[in-house]
Amino acid sequence: MINFDAVVGQEKPIQILKNLIRFGRIGHAYLFTGPEGTGRKTVAISFAKAVNCLNLPEKYDPCNYCSNCLKTEKGIHSDFHTISPLNSVITIEQIREIKETIYWRPLENRKKIFIISDAHKMTLAASNSLLKILEEPPSYAVLILITSVPENLLPTILSRCHRISFQPLKKAEQKEISNRMGRGSEEKNKYIDWVLKAKSEQPFSYFFSTGEKEIKDITDSFLDFTEVMILWFRDILFLQLGLPQNTLSFPERIDKIKDFAQFYSEERIIAILDYLTQIPEKMEKYINPKILLENFILQIGD
Ligand SMILES: [Zn+2]
Repeated sequence: MINFDAVVGQEKPIQILKNLIRFGRIGHAYLFTGPEGTGRKTVAISFAKAVNCLNLPEKYDPCNYCSNCLKTEKGIHSDFHTISPLNSVITIEQIREIKETIYWRPLENRKKIFIISDAHKMTLAASNSLLKILEEPPSYAVLILITSVPENLLPTILSRCHRISFQPLKKAEQKEISNRMGRGSEEKNKYIDWVLKAKSEQPFSYFFSTGEKEIKDITDSFLDFTEVMILWFRDILFLQLGLPQNTLSFPERIDKIKDFAQFYSEERIIAILDYLTQIPEKMEKYINPKILLENFILQIGD
């Protein structure tokens, strides 16, 4: 799950953001500056989740199981939008899309949040269009611009944003990140391999022939497994919708995604994703993860 905790060495910016939530002083425009790889986007998404979390704990970390947290995490929340360069520029059309939605009050949330990654890649027309929004943002709007080269943005944009600086990482912190990533990707691959194998051998019988220990490994960290499956099936959906490869979570496994995709219609994938996103809530109600896993296997079966 995307969370403040996932970011190493940025206690200061995180504390500033948490204080904004704590004291109810959330502004309209932020500029997250700092080098690549310092967790700026992870912090931005965590902030978006925390701002609208229905169940915000005392430490101001998002709860990660309310519907707002889950939808924001999956990028399917109607009040949460992210924009990144297409073919290395952010076009005026992309900013127009913000304009078209920003003036509609949030449907489900307190705040409507927009994240613009690599904001320095806006064209001049896009910058001017964004400036108009920043001059008179609606009360509920929050825009987060992320950049490693703030000096390339219009001064008029800079002056309207509250700047949050992310520091370059020290050696030890870099090492911790690479350790964490290594661990994480090993786990992810393990889950995907399991599901690929299950699918290739008739899921239900595979499930019953899988050893106790293997099932326990999965059910013991069932939320992590669920998260990987959400990303996996989202990749399949994205592929079927013809979205570009850079939107995938597992682009390195594109061939397997294609193989897998042929078994499912769009409706079916959406139904599976629906089921997966309800799992954290079900676990809150103490439903046994093994039963949830069994149901999931039934859903992906032939
Ligand atoms: Zn929440």
